[in-house]
Parts: sequence; structure tokens; C-alpha cells
Amino acid sequence: MPSVKYQRGEMVMGRWPGSSLYYEVKVLGYDTKSQLYTVIYKDGTELELKEQDIKNIGGFQTRSRSRSRSRSRSPGRRRSRSRSPARTTRRSSSRTAAAVAAAAITESAPSSRRDARLKDTLEVRLSPLQQTKAAENNSNNKHEKKEENNTANKVNESESKVEAESEKNQGRYNLRRRKEDGDAKPVEAKPEQLEKDAKVAAAAAATPLDFGGKIGAYFWLLFLPAWVLFVVLQVNLEDPSLVNFPPSLPPLEDFWDAQALGFVILWVLLQALLYILPVGKLSEGMPLRSGERLKYRTNGFFAITVSALAAAAAVYLDVDLTYIHSHFLQLATATFLISVLLSVYLYVRSRYADPAQLALGGNSGNVVYDFFKGRELNPRIKNFDLKFFCEMRPGLIGWCLINFAMALAEMKKQGLDAPSYSMILVNLFQLLYVVDGLWNEEAILTTMDLMHDGFGFMLAFGDLVWVPFTYTLQAYYLVSHPNPLSPLAVAAIITLKLVGFYIFRKSNSEKNAFRRNPSDPKLSHLKTIPTATGKSLLVSGWWGVVRHPNYLGDLIMALAWSLPCGFSHLLPWYYMIYFIILLVHRDSRDMSECRRKYGSAWDEYCRTVRYRIIPRVY
Ligand code: NDP
Repeated sequence: MPSVKYQRGEMVMGRWPGSSLYYEVKVLGYDTKSQLYTVIYKDGTELELKEQDIKNIGGFQTRSRSRSRSRSRSPGRRRSRSRSPARTTRRSSSRTAAAVAAAAITESAPSSRRDARLKDTLEVRLSPLQQTKAAENNSNNKHEKKEENNTANKVNESESKVEAESEKNQGRYNLRRRKEDGDAKPVEAKPEQLEKDAKVAAAAAATPLDFGGKIGAYFWLLFLPAWVLFVVLQVNLEDPSLVNFPPSLPPLEDFWDAQALGFVILWVLLQALLYILPVGKLSEGMPLRSGERLKYRTNGFFAITVSALAAAAAVYLDVDLTYIHSHFLQLATATFLISVLLSVYLYVRSRYADPAQLALGGNSGNVVYDFFKGRELNPRIKNFDLKFFCEMRPGLIGWCLINFAMALAEMKKQGLDAPSYSMILVNLFQLLYVVDGLWNEEAILTTMDLMHDGFGFMLAFGDLVWVPFTYTLQAYYLVSHPNPLSPLAVAAIITLKLVGFYIFRKSNSEKNAFRRNPSDPKLSHLKTIPTATGKSLLVSGWWGVVRHPNYLGDLIMALAWSLPCGFSHLLPWYYMIYFIILLVHRDSRDMSECRRKYGSAWDEYCRTVRYRIIPRVY
């Protein structure tokens, strides 16, 4: 290879033909005659790109080109080559927005993942108005057949027609969904909308798979419920040390109790009722890709107050809440069942959702992965936001109710007049965590779960089963494994908890306030880095200490939750160990997401703020 700017094997960012999107590509070669680079995208698509359509990864920064700019570029032809299944010749630099949309959709063809997405997402056919009229004279069947034989040649043909006709038609195109082909009426769509939709499809295709991808999804689907079962059985053992691993499985009938299912359903219904009551603030979520902002009823503090009063009333009326301790396995099974049914419902409804409503990350085309990761970003039944509700209500408030029941069970089992110090600390610390979360409920609207993750099994199971049935492990453990604490130990643990809480709360509030109003005068002292998206990144204050100060505070608090259980067994430390793994992984997920979003601005942030979670350590 002669001396050229990009070398064979080098990873660079290549512009997707006809769009302003750049993806990571590998340089395969350079043709001195045509002066084109052959590059390969991650999905195996090979194309030839001009040097100006390639950028170094390091200096890369996403730019959104204005339509006028892309239109005014010289209409020079360029050969793009798709090695599979057929070679295509396409014009790229002078494309109209509609052609861009067509290209982004049809060029997806080589990847089976994208094939599947094609069915799921936009599935549009573009043609000038005259063409459609002619087509409508033919039978629908004929038309459908033509559509299905969507070969590269036809794509080119229709694209060049689109381009030729576009100027005549002043950018007016017919847009149809394939599913509605039979009786659909042509809908006029604006090229800008098509470009947006194409960008969504392309961005979803470029979003890397998390959690070990498709194989990982199978693993997690089996492992997560198995793990909950393991900890629930293990904590019940007289000696829950690892030497007694694995705990023996109880008979099958022990898993099931219709009454337990009834209680779980009642609990979820009570929380749903409290959520829909017109009490409390209506908060706006972050702008969606469409620019729309959803409204959320943030009355979580009201919900936990009413729930606490209900629990107090139950105790007053001699309702035996230790039932929760004695039927923990059955309650967990019932909740698991509900989470699976909910996940199936979520997956099925997502098949009918508008492409714009789908999360970029849960839209791979693989049923198992998408079922696990979640497809729809904000599934709602009217104004009832299913993800927000599950994230903040039944599981989170249920966690406190279970802890309270464990304190009652401890008193009953150990014949105490009051819970032990250890139990009180665990109960109060975790109650503070939940109450704080609900008091600042609005802050969850700027977190990854709400902004980026689709709602599927991962979150449904996590919110409804994982949180209430594994985060309560310390309280459960203390019921049968007392750990007396000296006053000094109590004071030290409380101090640790407060330090962690302070860091956690301050850093989360700082970012939340900044995201809600970047020009808030109270934040004017903070330094920021602008990004190409229009959003800025905080680079001083809490977010200048480490890249995830909120995780640091959370981890310190987790330590304070485990310490009251002592060091006799590993089991009550499970939360701490799990949480380190969770937050380290979450941090790396967020890093990739932010690098994708903010490009070189994110790299600059990382250079300025060198540590991820623990200053000078990690
Ligand atoms: P964050 O609240 O940290 O949100 C990450 C997002 O913040 C990024 O995607 C980015 O989004 C924005 N951001 C990152 N850096 C900056 C910066 N320098 N300036 C401005 N914005 C920035 O992540 P999580 O949603 O993971 O966590 C929220 C809280 O929930 C944390 O306190 C965490 O500890 C806690 N948590 C608790 C769990 C539990 O089980 N107990 C589980 C998971 C989380 P953008 O730029 O798009 O706004």
C-alpha cells in the first residue's frame, strides 16, 4: 500500500453514505486509481469511502450537518461496493434527505440483525408521487411481491428515481408501512422525518449489545432467578456459610402459595392506586429523541407515607406481618411470576410500538436479547408509565415493608421487646435510602434506566423481584443470626452511612439540577465542557472529583449496610460485592454510551477527570 493517510487494518470512523452518521470501521485497503478506501463496518458491510468521509477515532466529534449543506455539496458520483449479496453503485454525496432515509434503510440489508429490525422498525418504501399513483393501478399483491424482492438493483433503481424526481416534487414522498400495505393510503411524510427515522434505525443498529450479547441474555435469564432462589434458600439455613453450598431444594409445592400471590397482587394494586391519585407534582422527563417530554406523577413520598400508615394500622390490628418472613419463598415465586408475565406483555406490545418509541439498546432483532433488555423506552397505558411505576413503587416500597417485617420476625424469634441495634441500623439506613429516592423522585428521570434502557425482563425482574428479595438479605439474615454492636461501632457505622449519603445526594442533585437547567445561577460557578449535542458536561464540583461520584456515595452506604451484620458469614456482604460489580459494569456501560453521544468532548472530560469512581484508585 502506498503512503496514504489511513493504513490497512486501522480503526477509523467512516461516514455512512448519504447520512451524517459515523461508525467505527476498519480500513481494508486503498485504491490509488479511484482514490477510495475500502472499509468494513462492524456488521460486515464493505464500502468504498473518500478520504473526507473518514476521520480518526481520537479527534472524532459527531456533527449534525444541516440539510442545506448536504444538498449544496457537489453531486459527484462515488462508487460504493457492497460485497454481499450484490454489488451496488450508488450516489452518495448529493442525496436528498429522502434518499438518505431510503439508503439508510435499504443498506441495512446485509445484516440479519438489521433485516429483523427492518420488519420491526420503519419499513418504508419511498417513491415519488407519480410513481405511487402508477403503482396503485397495479394489484396490491403484485406490489407486495415487488417489495419483497427488494434486491440491491431495485434499490438503486428506485433511489436514482427518487433522486431524479425529488427536485420536481420539491421533496414530497409517499411513505407506507409494509404491514399496512393491503389497505394503506399513501401518507405524505416530510423528508426531515424520514431522515430522523433513518437515523434512529441506523443508531439502533450501531448500538453495541450489552451483557454478553445474545448468549449473555440466555445466561442472565436463567442465572438471575436462580441466584434469587439461592440466596433465599441459603439465608434460611442455620449455618449459611459457603460450606453448606448449595442449599437443598425444597419440594416443588413449597414454592407455591395462592395466598402469597394474592398478597403480591394486592400490594401492586395498592401502589398503582397511590400512583394514579392526582396528588403531588407532575414532573417533566428529559426530552425524548422526538423532542417530546413525558409527564410523570412524582408522588412517591406520598405513596410510602400511606404505605407506612397502612403497615402501622396492620400491626395495630394484630395482622401478623411476620407472614412475610415465613412465606418469603412463596412471595418471591409469586412476584417472579408477575415479572415474567409483565415482561411478556412488554415484549408483545413493543412489536406494535412506533419505532420512535423504542430504546436504541433493546432493538437488536434477536428475540431473547430484546426480551431481556427491553425494547420500548417508555411503555405507557394512557398516562400510567409502567417503567417509572415499577422502578419506584412496588419493589422499592416493598423493600422497606419486608425489612420492617424482618424486624418483627427478629423480635418474635429471639423473644425481644425491641429489634436489635443491628436490625434498627439496617432498617433505618435502607429506609433513608428509599425515602430519599422517593422524596427526590424527579431525579430518577435523568438516570440511565429512565433515559436510555428499554423496559423488559431486566428491569421488570430487577425492580419487582431482585430489589425486594435480595436487598432485604441483611435484615433477613439478622432474624436468625444476631450480631450485637457496641455503641462505638454503632456511632462509626452511622458516620460512614452519613458520609456516603452526603456524597450520593449532593452529586445526584447537582447533576439533576444541571441537566434540568444548565443556566441555573446556583450552578454558575461550575466549569463545563460543551459537546456537539448542545448539552454540556460538568467538569468541576462533584463531577470533577470522579466521573461517578454518585456511585462512590452509594458504595460507601452499601458498606454501612453490611457492617451491622458482622463478619461471621459472607452472605450479608453479598449486596456489597454485587453492588461493586453492578456499578463497575454500569460505569463502563455509561462510558461507552457517553463516548458514543459526546465523542471527543467525552474524551476531553475523561482526560480532565481521570478516575471513574474512587479518587486515585479507580
Ligand atoms: P447517573 O445518574 O450517573 O447517570 C449517568 C448519566 O449522567 C450519563 O449517561 C450522562 O447522561 C450524565 N452525565 C455523566 N457525566 C456527566 C457530567 N460530567 N456532567 C453532566 N452529566 C453527566 O447513572 P445511573 O442512572 O447509573 O445512577 C443513578 C443513581 O442510582 C446513582 O446514584 C446510582 O448509584 C444509583 N443506582 C442504584 C442502584 C441500586 O440498585 N441501588 C442501581 C443503579 C443505580 P446525559 O449526558 O445524557 O444526561
